[in-house]
Amino acid sequence: MKKGWKKSLLILCWLAASAPLFSAAGGETGNAPVCDARLAAEAGEANPVKTVESPDGRTFLTVFMRDGRLIYRAGYYRDGRDGRAEVVLVEDSPLGLSTNIGDFTTGMQWKGATEDSLATSYELTRSKVSHVDYRARVLTVTLHNAEGKPLQLEFRVSDNNIAFRYRMPQQGETACMVVDSEASGFRFPARTTTFICPQSTEMVGWKRTKPSYEEEYVPDEPVGTPSKYGCGYTFPCLFHVGDDGWVLVSETGVGGNYCGSRLSEATDGSLYRIAYPMPGENNGFGSTGAQVGLPCATPWRTLTLGATLKPVVETTVPFDVVEPLYEPSQVYKPGRSTWSWILWQDNSLNFEDQCTYIRLAADLGWEYCLVDGGWQKNIGRKRMEELFRRAREAGVELFVWYNSNGGWNDAPQDPKNCMANPIARKAEMKWLKENGAKGIKVDFFAGDKQETLRLYEAILSDANDYGIQVIFHGCTLPRGWERMYPNYCASEAVLASENLIFQQHFCDNEAFNACLHPFIRNAVGSMDFGGTILNSRLNRGNDGGTVRRTTDIFQLATAIVFQSSVHNFALAPNNLTEQPAFEIDFMKAVPTAWDEVRFLDGYPGRYVALARRAGARWYVAVLNAGPEARTLTLELPMLAGREVRYYRDGKDGRTPECGTTKVARNGRFKLTVPVNGGAVLECAADAK
Ligand code: CA
Repeated sequence: MKKGWKKSLLILCWLAASAPLFSAAGGETGNAPVCDARLAAEAGEANPVKTVESPDGRTFLTVFMRDGRLIYRAGYYRDGRDGRAEVVLVEDSPLGLSTNIGDFTTGMQWKGATEDSLATSYELTRSKVSHVDYRARVLTVTLHNAEGKPLQLEFRVSDNNIAFRYRMPQQGETACMVVDSEASGFRFPARTTTFICPQSTEMVGWKRTKPSYEEEYVPDEPVGTPSKYGCGYTFPCLFHVGDDGWVLVSETGVGGNYCGSRLSEATDGSLYRIAYPMPGENNGFGSTGAQVGLPCATPWRTLTLGATLKPVVETTVPFDVVEPLYEPSQVYKPGRSTWSWILWQDNSLNFEDQCTYIRLAADLGWEYCLVDGGWQKNIGRKRMEELFRRAREAGVELFVWYNSNGGWNDAPQDPKNCMANPIARKAEMKWLKENGAKGIKVDFFAGDKQETLRLYEAILSDANDYGIQVIFHGCTLPRGWERMYPNYCASEAVLASENLIFQQHFCDNEAFNACLHPFIRNAVGSMDFGGTILNSRLNRGNDGGTVRRTTDIFQLATAIVFQSSVHNFALAPNNLTEQPAFEIDFMKAVPTAWDEVRFLDGYPGRYVALARRAGARWYVAVLNAGPEARTLTLELPMLAGREVRYYRDGKDGRTPECGTTKVARNGRFKLTVPVNGGAVLECAADAK
């Protein structure tokens, strides 16, 4: 009895302690119970049903019990002739955790639910937006499992976004837990088609470096189609629910606290579940589950949904539900970077070529130059110190490449063994700081096990102590990291520009892939793509190698469409003399951190039109993958009646042109973009 009483008290304390979380500074609270009357009447006391609506009343989430399991469904309300029509985008889907302190998937009992409202504001300094006012309805459901052990589900429903996570209290004296698997699922209507990136088999590919989120998409594939490798799908995953809308599924708030997850193969027709890492990741080393102390909250599973793609492109849910994990040690500067490796490849990792690319950055007025892999052997540490001096004299700051190894793959580039353990890492970072380095690019990670997520977090945390920003490459998806880690810049986790060099196939499909990213990968986090290639042949001499199929204006438009706070562009020294001056002037002025993003039009894999704002300057960017030339009438109220610079493909569909034009007073702007072409409108900063 005594023991049980103590346990109850502990749980009560935990529940009370969790309350302030929902009324953060500036927050407002309310207790209006929201309940679906129809379903509740059917269900009765023993089988409660809760429906929560977003602050704008359009997005809904319904949770209820069925056969001892907690189930949810989600969608939006469409105004119909007879009132609000419920459009279900995610059908009845399971929730639950399987742990080493008990099973919390079946035999569950509903013990109660509370509701609240949350309103907070926050700033981002290095992302797609700079200021967010986040308002959400919060539903917390308390359940007991068959042994009477409690578990909570916390849901946040904001306009067009739903996030949920599990909260586990300390259970008596049990203060730690391993989560083996998760029942959380996402079931889609049968008419759904998918835009999802297959997870690679582990320990395959170049030097056994996979998985690294670099597989190819099949657009509009019927829901439930088995994936290419039978290993499920990497986040984020985009679902097209017929004519009813879109759902982007992802996760956020994953650092060293948990493993990264993905979606399983579909079962039962169209049910995808959260899947934890595969045993063979990280060369088979480390567990596939998550180890946590109690009380704990898991990372958030997120849904972005609506009738159009606008909420997907504009979502901030990866950042809304996480918090900064430490203070920045200094102000970290977004910026543009030159990068020799992409066109000049391994042979350029020598002192003279790096000086050339430092000069290129200086000529462009850019902030940074990235010295890629292989510098330790080819340049050496002593001459690197000289290179740092040269960069300082030129007013350019350096990012320096590192291999994440360690012992988890065969990637040979040096330097190795500098980032994998804290003693070597801190010594290296001390050296970098003493020489004025402003960033590192760390490559070739080992999958999504908690073991590896802890390494990402340790690198970020140590780097902040030395004033160093971090780009990850050959890596996992960032999950809220722009807000969680103030010195984090971007991650690859995409079929990046390097593939354009490696194979003509990727050049032939460049526009198709580019038209996926704003709706999928780049919608949830900064993307180190490394693009804007102005060479027509992708080699050092601009005279061999793969052939670029896209136009110059397409390439300029990707500088706007692709978002990364420190953007490694693929410009080469020959571009300064070979390209029209207006292209170079455009690249000299292009921002890399944004205040605002607006979806204008598009369809994944076919075309995209979006607008971004930096300060008072608006950019509109359009990419067209085809299959034919596309004429669009864009709604641009923010540019109504204003003069803009207009970059477009000439009449031959290829020759770049630039001039000024005026957006009509009604804000409409009509343009035609050829296949593999692009367009950009740029509004001068002084235009109000
Ligand atoms: Ca890569």
